[in-house]
Amino acid sequence: MLALRAVGWAQPPVLQDVPEPRPGEGEVLLEVLAAGVCQSDLHVLDAPEGVLPYVLPCTLGHEVAGRVVALGPGVAGPDLGAEVLVHGPVGCGGCPACAVGEDNHCRRRAELRSAGIGLGRDGGMAELVVVPARALVGLRGLDPVAAVGLTDAGLTSYAALEATLPELREGTTAVVVGVGGLGHLAVQVLRALTDAQVIAVDSRVAGRELATASGAHAALEPDGWAEQVQERMAGAGAELVLDVVGSQSTLDSALRVVATGGQLTVVGSGDGALALTKGQQLVQGLRVALPFWGSRRQLERVVELAVAGVLHVDHEFHPLSDGPAVLERLRRGEVSGRAVLVPDREAPAC
Ligand SMILES: [Zn+2]
Ligand SMILES: [Zn+2]
Repeated sequence: MLALRAVGWAQPPVLQDVPEPRPGEGEVLLEVLAAGVCQSDLHVLDAPEGVLPYVLPCTLGHEVAGRVVALGPGVAGPDLGAEVLVHGPVGCGGCPACAVGEDNHCRRRAELRSAGIGLGRDGGMAELVVVPARALVGLRGLDPVAAVGLTDAGLTSYAALEATLPELREGTTAVVVGVGGLGHLAVQVLRALTDAQVIAVDSRVAGRELATASGAHAALEPDGWAEQVQERMAGAGAELVLDVVGSQSTLDSALRVVATGGQLTVVGSGDGALALTKGQQLVQGLRVALPFWGSRRQLERVVELAVAGVLHVDHEFHPLSDGPAVLERLRRGEVSGRAVLVPDREAPAC
């Protein structure tokens, strides 16, 4: 079968013909219906040797929607033919975090040499993929291509916001920095579940337009955004800054904006660094969170929000064989929302 693979560190991805996988104990085989393309894929491909603990070569694709086509030994369900999303951060399955579906915080991550599907173990940019049966969440009638972005872009945004949502009452402000796949869903979550004023920041015109279409009250250019937010808030600052970029300049600006007692949540894997020194520049009561992906329960909640019509993944789709070119478009900032790869058998003929 065809698979898009990371074959070596700091090397471009390669389309390869690989053997069809078989499900082992506790696993199922999925026919892939859709696989999302994420900045993290570039992060993996660009990494120099020794930075990430993953085993290569590895098929990319950590956002996966598929149809169940075979069950491994010891697996009783779901029914063959069921359409599902995959909870991607597959952990050891046995630690206290994995036992409650929080594989994203697996205590034995370092030993696994994988952060999940498509990140150290073979992912969904292929015609077939094997995943643990416990990672499946039903699609509930959602279109797989439209919904696949819920599994990371949607889940990561929601999980990063969940704890802060009750604090974002009328009169508060939330800022989302970076409005791509994750950021536009974060804006939608904030608008649907809070009364906060939502301000988005993005360097691209398309990103600012997507922010506004997703419900942001304002969409600002990066130049001087911290000062503009302070002006709007009469110096009171923002209760939440969600930084989906994580560069030095976005982190520095975020710290100038976050309110006393407020929260800075960093999701982006840019190369910025935060110096946490007490009693100097940082506001009193500042909370900093570095969430990673989300739990299985949170993915179920995200699917529920999509079924209710609250979350819509802005997306475009391409045949799997165009994967390398799509990744390059993402690198150049030319993808609006989420790009989705569809195995060539499913893609419409041009
Ligand atoms: Zn991702
Ligand atoms: Zn675990």
